[in-house]
Amino acid sequence: MMKEVTYEGLCFEPYITKDKIDARVAELGKEIVRDCSGKMPLFICVLNGAFPFASDLFRAVETIDAEITFIRLKSYEGTESSGSVKEVIGLHEDIKGRTVIVVEDIVDTGNTIHRLIKDLEAKEPAEIKVATLLFKPDALVRPVTPDYVGFNIPTKFIIGYGLDLNGKARNLNDIYILKEE
Ligand code: IMP
Ligand code: MG
Repeated sequence: MMKEVTYEGLCFEPYITKDKIDARVAELGKEIVRDCSGKMPLFICVLNGAFPFASDLFRAVETIDAEITFIRLKSYEGTESSGSVKEVIGLHEDIKGRTVIVVEDIVDTGNTIHRLIKDLEAKEPAEIKVATLLFKPDALVRPVTPDYVGFNIPTKFIIGYGLDLNGKARNLNDIYILKEE
């Protein structure tokens, strides 16, 4: 049975089970197979948070040829967006003329993905698609429309399945939401 968990004195309650995540990831995989068959898409996993989602999503498209690479950015400290986005580990692949699928754990304000898309566009890919497990549409401040969304969620802080609170809770299989006091 799923129980509440506590990190740094904050209490989180169960929100999305791993079973539900698995079922949704399988559906997203089918959509990507349908859209990207024959295009040899390059998945770009945005570390650290997206690594469990990227791992599952990438294997959900096993029927098509695809590649994966990893980049790292950071924009969050604690439970509020710092607003600044910084590239920490760059992209080494040549993406000119390719279909790339940016894989994110969550799109909150959209600052991170907006900045990343701009950087990628300069490298002249054929198309850039965005796959995000979670999307907070009410928090969005940038003109960004993710192509593949696992779950739309309210503007609340969540953890688990890659999402962290100051580096912790990424290894939870299920997703948890900050409890209202
Ligand atoms: P954005 O730039 O505001 O869209 O934020 C994107 C990044 O902030 C994500 O890739 C996450 O790393 C982090 N983030 C946003 N919301 C949450 C959350 O609810 N829990 C944990 N991390 C979050
Ligand atoms: Mg992230």
